[in-house]
Amino acid sequence: MASYRHLLLGVDLSAESRQVVDRAVAMRDTSGAQLSVVHVIEPLSFAYGGDIPMDFSGIQEEIHKQAKAHMAALCDPLNIPEANRHLVVGRPETEIHHIAEEVGADLIVVGSHGRHGLSLLMGSTANGVLHGARCDVLAVRVRDES
Ligand code: AMP
Repeated sequence: MASYRHLLLGVDLSAESRQVVDRAVAMRDTSGAQLSVVHVIEPLSFAYGGDIPMDFSGIQEEIHKQAKAHMAALCDPLNIPEANRHLVVGRPETEIHHIAEEVGADLIVVGSHGRHGLSLLMGSTANGVLHGARCDVLAVRVRDES
């Protein structure tokens, strides 16, 4: 079987995302594939926009700055070049699909908590990414660190 040439890793920048990052980096290092990373910032207006008459732009800018710093802290030691780091605004599933197309990824790597019951029915980001992906998707089981 041919190996993957371009991996796209979705990170939520939580402490737990380390487990997903480690798996993607190990795959990159053993296969020689390219590795791109994407973090999607969800606009506050998606959650509160209709209900709270407030200008979120200042807070949104601060969130962007923080996310950029977190991405650098994650990617610098792993030798992931700037050009392979994507910080975008929108809905995670949709934007991960967009970036996968843009970079020509043949494998998307995301974490999965393997939740049960209602939250499984309601779907997770991993589920959303799987549905509608034009390439393979690897869901790395994330273990609770608490
Ligand atoms: P969740 O469904 O929120 O538990 O997230 C599962 C996985 O989806 C995470 O481990 C990441 O790989 C990916 N993911 C979640 N949120 C984002 C985000 N905002 N940007 C990029 N990837 C994300």
